[in-house]
Amino acid sequence: MPNAEILSIGTELLLGDVLDTNSQFLSQQLAHLGIDCFWRTTVGDNKGRIKEALKIALDRSDIVITTGGLGPTADDLTTECIAELLGAPLELDEDVLARIREYFRQRGITMPDSNTKQAMRPRGAELVPNRTGTAPGIFFAVGKESLEYADIASPENSRVIVTFPGVPSELKAMWKEIAGEKLRERFVPSAIWSCELKHVGIGESALAEMYEDLLSLPNPTVAPYAGTGECRLRVAAKAETLEQARQLAMPVVEKIKERSGIKCYGTDDDTLEVVVGRLLKERNMTLAVAESCTGGLVSKRLTDISGSSKYISLNVVAYSNDAKERALAVPGEIIEKYGAVSPQCAEAMAWGIRRAAGADIGLSVTGIAGPEGGTPEKPVGLVYLGLSAEGFYAGKQLNYFNQLERREIRFRTSSEALNMVRIFLLEPAWLAS
Ligand code: AMP
Ligand code: MG
Repeated sequence: MPNAEILSIGTELLLGDVLDTNSQFLSQQLAHLGIDCFWRTTVGDNKGRIKEALKIALDRSDIVITTGGLGPTADDLTTECIAELLGAPLELDEDVLARIREYFRQRGITMPDSNTKQAMRPRGAELVPNRTGTAPGIFFAVGKESLEYADIASPENSRVIVTFPGVPSELKAMWKEIAGEKLRERFVPSAIWSCELKHVGIGESALAEMYEDLLSLPNPTVAPYAGTGECRLRVAAKAETLEQARQLAMPVVEKIKERSGIKCYGTDDDTLEVVVGRLLKERNMTLAVAESCTGGLVSKRLTDISGSSKYISLNVVAYSNDAKERALAVPGEIIEKYGAVSPQCAEAMAWGIRRAAGADIGLSVTGIAGPEGGTPEKPVGLVYLGLSAEGFYAGKQLNYFNQLERREIRFRTSSEALNMVRIFLLEPAWLAS
């Protein structure tokens, strides 16, 4: 099995100024292709060290993917280093130069001389075109035995280097268009079909325990991944064709869906907001949200979905006590007696927003996101949710007392709130218990 190494190049990465999201993206993509990634290295903009890192990577990996250092300035050294290391002379590619000139012309700018550098290509390298920026990448075959560049047409005989610019959007576009395919052709003889089963209301370790019997399967494989406020099980099968792989995986996917029941909220691109929107549309129902400590996050997530105006008409962020009284008709006595962060206030908010919006479902969130504002009786991380509908009310208390950050408390709360709507639409009896 071929294995890959990712080499991120840029001093800004080592200084911690820029987070290396390209490596994360590339790792995910390699995993989807079924190519093992055994190493990830980061090196600064220094010729000696880049060459050293490239040499080490080529010694232990079949596929070396670099990101960064393809710019026009003196500290962009990737192509030069590859050319020197492999003894492949740099040649000017007139077509690439013409394309870069055109890129500037369309923007009404004369191309700076320094950009000529981006049209230099080591002899023997194929290009990975860059349609959203100036620097193309290269796809370069290296002989199995020595560091000499090899005939790119003979796959058995070679390792490869693929280079990408550092700009994340350019890298992603280039990967999608070409690099993934090139690697698939050359290195992935089998097809991989995979599916992510997304779960809420269960932690990663509990999920792993629940599926202990499946986690050691060889094909398909089943692996748990933790996310923020949710976790996933990835089922992946390998076979000669995609359809065969899918058929191998499906019985396991079905088994998981059945065993997880309502805890499995969707697959792959599903998010809680997508699923809630779908259910509301199916049932022809509307939702209105009153938020305090999440400051509109639940509303934002719901309205991120195109077409959400079908089921959302009015959401409110009522931050102060006064606003809760005025906008949501929360009785002043409730706030006085129990406080704004209380099950009673959550209930009044859910009722109030449902009435104000004339919606089928009213959802409310009130809590203490911190880091300030906590008391011994009502510590940071205490949150109340409420859901009101015709002839129905359910409340829920969340306790995020374990020193979560404000941002995380808010996001997890928003997921719990969305999940409450989802469960109401599927099995309301669950909420009452
Ligand atoms: P470069 O191709 O090295 O000129 O990088 C262009 C820009 O892309 C840099 O200024 C960074 O902001 C960004 N960048 C570079 N490397 C990475 C990386 N590994 N992950 C995310 N962003 C990056
Ligand atoms: Mg750079």
